[in-house]
Amino acid sequence: MIKNQRTIYNVIHAESRGLHTGRDIQVILSPAPANSGIVFQRVDLPGAKRLEAVVDNVHSTQLATTLGEGENRISTVEHLMAALVSLGVDNILVEVNGPELPVFDGSAAPWVKLLKDAALRDLGVSRRAYVVTRPFMITDGDKSIEVHPASRFSVEAAIDFNGAIGRQLFRYVDGDETFIREVSRARTFCFLKDVEFMRSRGLALGGGLENAVVIGDDGILNPEGLRYGDEFVRHKLLDFIGDLAMAGAPVIGRFIITKPGHELNRRFVAEALAEPGLLKAVSLTALGAARPATRPAARLSLDEGRWAAA
Ligand SMILES: [Zn+2]
Repeated sequence: MIKNQRTIYNVIHAESRGLHTGRDIQVILSPAPANSGIVFQRVDLPGAKRLEAVVDNVHSTQLATTLGEGENRISTVEHLMAALVSLGVDNILVEVNGPELPVFDGSAAPWVKLLKDAALRDLGVSRRAYVVTRPFMITDGDKSIEVHPASRFSVEAAIDFNGAIGRQLFRYVDGDETFIREVSRARTFCFLKDVEFMRSRGLALGGGLENAVVIGDDGILNPEGLRYGDEFVRHKLLDFIGDLAMAGAPVIGRFIITKPGHELNRRFVAEALAEPGLLKAVSLTALGAARPATRPAARLSLDEGRWAAA
């Protein structure tokens, strides 16, 4: 895991359609100093206050994760958030001229490419993180998120849909380039039958086969097919990683997520932060020095056994 805080070297300018408004949206990502965090700013609203990417500022989770409220809101921030936390970018200013971020192809891969092209800069200050101190779980019917103490970040994700998607399991273990290779390219998805309903409510106006996997009665409508055989569960994992970043720092633990969604993800972060002593704030340079005390081999075999039995 990256030990020092990072930002970007070069300013990034990008433009793409917004998924819900259908408008072209411009975004500018700029370097920011250590300990300033990930901060969003609407530049089309005079005097709009800056929105820090923390769970207290998440005011809607319908179809996407939205920071802010009323006019000063920015939606669909989760794919950028997932790319930032996975690349170890803790500090950045994101200026946008509309109520949502550009959707690009519906995955985090274009954000990863933009960030890598801008080059990442080590700020020479230790990265902060949260370490999970004991098991914790929240549920909503048959949906759940649980976490256990572990020496590295991992997620076992399960989804269960009718029809073309079915039941999918995926296990992610944080490591060099793992997010980029295994998760970043997974696209958002929707069912054709839901599209008309969303459009009638003024949503998904910019949605199409170029920025989502669309599932009809007879299967997937996208002529190019899937990017991963289990692209759906990988996208749910991508969303979870982005939403978990609203804790304000990486959370080191072993997560087991079943049928996750943006609202459950938000609730998990809010409740975990409010739970006394559950998340211990650490400096990653200090944690690195203490690493030999952990027993990764034993943990890994335990993980494998549990996951095989799930
Ligand atoms: Zn998503």
